[in-house]
Amino acid sequence: MKTVERDALPMWLRESADVKAAFDEHAIVVIVDAQERITFVSERFCAISQLSGDELVGQDYRAIVSERYPHVLLYELRDCMAHDSRWRGEIQFHAKDGTSFWISATIVPLLDEEEKLRQFVVIGADITEQKRVENELSEMHRLQRLLADLSARFVAVPSAQVDAAIQTTQSLVGEALGLDRSMLWQLGEHGADMSVTHYWQRDGLPPLPPDLSMGACLPWIHDELLRGGCVCFSTVGELPARAARDVQVFSQQGTKSCLTFPLIANGKTFGALAFATLQAERKWRDDVIAELKLVAQIIGNVVARQRSEMREEQLRDELAHAMRIASLGELAAAIAHELNQPLAAILSNAQAARRFLENGESDPDELHAILDDIVRDDKRAGGVVHNLRAMVRKHPATRESYSLNDLVIEVLELLRGEMIGERVGLHLSLAPSLPPVAVARVELQQVLVNLFINATQAMNSNASGDRAIDVETRTEAETVVVRIRDRGHGVPPDRLSHIFDPFFSTKADGLGMGLSICRRIIESHGGRIEARNHREIGAIFSFSLPIAAIAAR
Ligand code: ADP
Repeated sequence: MKTVERDALPMWLRESADVKAAFDEHAIVVIVDAQERITFVSERFCAISQLSGDELVGQDYRAIVSERYPHVLLYELRDCMAHDSRWRGEIQFHAKDGTSFWISATIVPLLDEEEKLRQFVVIGADITEQKRVENELSEMHRLQRLLADLSARFVAVPSAQVDAAIQTTQSLVGEALGLDRSMLWQLGEHGADMSVTHYWQRDGLPPLPPDLSMGACLPWIHDELLRGGCVCFSTVGELPARAARDVQVFSQQGTKSCLTFPLIANGKTFGALAFATLQAERKWRDDVIAELKLVAQIIGNVVARQRSEMREEQLRDELAHAMRIASLGELAAAIAHELNQPLAAILSNAQAARRFLENGESDPDELHAILDDIVRDDKRAGGVVHNLRAMVRKHPATRESYSLNDLVIEVLELLRGEMIGERVGLHLSLAPSLPPVAVARVELQQVLVNLFINATQAMNSNASGDRAIDVETRTEAETVVVRIRDRGHGVPPDRLSHIFDPFFSTKADGLGMGLSICRRIIESHGGRIEARNHREIGAIFSFSLPIAAIAAR
């Protein structure tokens, strides 16, 4: 407004113009017409919104108000008008640069002569800073509450539910802080590169590509984490020039800010936990970083435990395999005997057939019978070889329905040579029509071989007439039971509770792994194995397995 013109105005108008100018400069004022178009904005509002008066006037006010308000506002205003009152509340607006600001507003509806809404005036104060502090406080409050029950949650969680618990935690933290994504990375078996094992992200984001490798995508961050450092940036621009590849991948993925902690066990990084925003950049405050570090430590402990359990499991499998190979050594003599018999029979039958032909006595029926014998013996030898191959194979077969009677007989056939050599008598009492059990055949064979060999060895010092094993099968409750009794030295009562422990052995050349593997196999099939002494002489080993139909229920 020019001075000349201003001076020419009457005093009351000048005063009014001054008040308006002061108002315009300091107060937040927006006037909107009945069609919800902006008709006036104060300079202060322009400054906060980073939009000029020209950009704002004429625009639908809903374009600058956060999604939560556009519909509410007019609806509530009409309600207010009906009661001839004002609307008071807090409104979130969008600024030009994508950030938002908060106004604590009073909205006054102005009516025309016919009492119809002519326009409404929004007058307010900027409470963005207050909102930010409030928001930070409630964020911290939510995070602390989450942390309080996080440790307890993970202490009690069974191994099988650890993965789900990790993902739930990622989503709870993500929601509490308004983040968009959290990723758990882990080093692979050979420890060279990290890949994503668990992740959570806000609905609507495209899924992460499979086989994401940190070494390839984010090489700079990967190195920092392996060195034990934490990586934090509020905008990708903060990353150093050496992180050019990382910046490129973040930009492609739309990651705006990220906080990544290394997961460390025994002084070595084995994984990383990352939190990221994609919708907007985020400043990571020190108190939030400290709390999230605790989250990373808790998850890191659980993952480290899970990884060592998996490693143990793998070692146990390798050991079980080694034990199978070792027990094969003990079986070698028996197997040689088993193979020798059919091979010798095949040879003598073939020689007999040749003699018949050479002598011109080619009675077709006789030759047929000889060939049938050869085929039968060949099949028997093939069976022995098949069993042997199955036992050497590293990964035992999948579980199928078997009668334990058949498995007992199969293993005793295999051990027949050994038993005869050791002059061990066998008393079988196998229940007729025993219900089947669902087992990995080779594993059960391994259990039976161990028990029979132990029983035979326990009778080493008996006179030959006193060496006998009783084998009994029966149904008991909803299980099938196998009971093996020998007439050996028995187990000293104070050792009974230890014989299933790994590396417990009283034999000079014993490894002490046989029974511990037996127990693992039986328990992994949902069964039980136990040992006791017979009241007269010898030990009784018995195990039970759930009947297949019942186990499948
Ligand atoms: P190893 O045979 O290598 O010692 P096992 O785990 O098979 O390992 O057996 C552990 C120990 O349990 C044996 O050393 C022995 O003391 C005891 N044991 C196992 N079977 C019998 C049995 N039938 N009679 C008496 N003691 C037994």
